[in-house]
Amino acid sequence: MRCPFCGNVDTQVKDSRPAEDHVAIRRRRFCPACGGRFTTYERVQLRDLVVIKTSGKREDFDRDKLERSIRIAMQKRPVEPERIDQMISGIVRRLESMGETDISSKVIGEIVMETLARIDTVGYVRFASVYKNFQEADDFDKFVSELRPPQPGEAE
Ligand SMILES: [Zn+2]
Repeated sequence: MRCPFCGNVDTQVKDSRPAEDHVAIRRRRFCPACGGRFTTYERVQLRDLVVIKTSGKREDFDRDKLERSIRIAMQKRPVEPERIDQMISGIVRRLESMGETDISSKVIGEIVMETLARIDTVGYVRFASVYKNFQEADDFDKFVSELRPPQPGEAE
């Protein structure tokens, strides 16, 4: 959020809390560049989200596409379909509540991975392997070993 005083785009959220009986979120922001403080309100925005791809191409956000990629990653995993639905809704809500219409595909991928990592490691790794599009097997192995939770009895 751009600072209204000095124009710096790198402002920080100091505090977030529900407002207007949970219809909005009030955020107190701070600008480290000029020390300015201001408040923003976040509300449900039913306007369509736009995905900014790595190439710079813009594309309407497609919930079905997101759902497909997650379902492929979660194929044959012991996770209830309802849980997967909830997860997808949660991801979409998170994207919608970020306060921006334009969202980079990178941010979406990171949110999906973060969510999958909490629910199912295998699904997460499958998704990540596609998403990260690793060119070299070495990188992928490193990636997996970094993110795989330590197994019982395994040396740290
Ligand atoms: Zn400022």
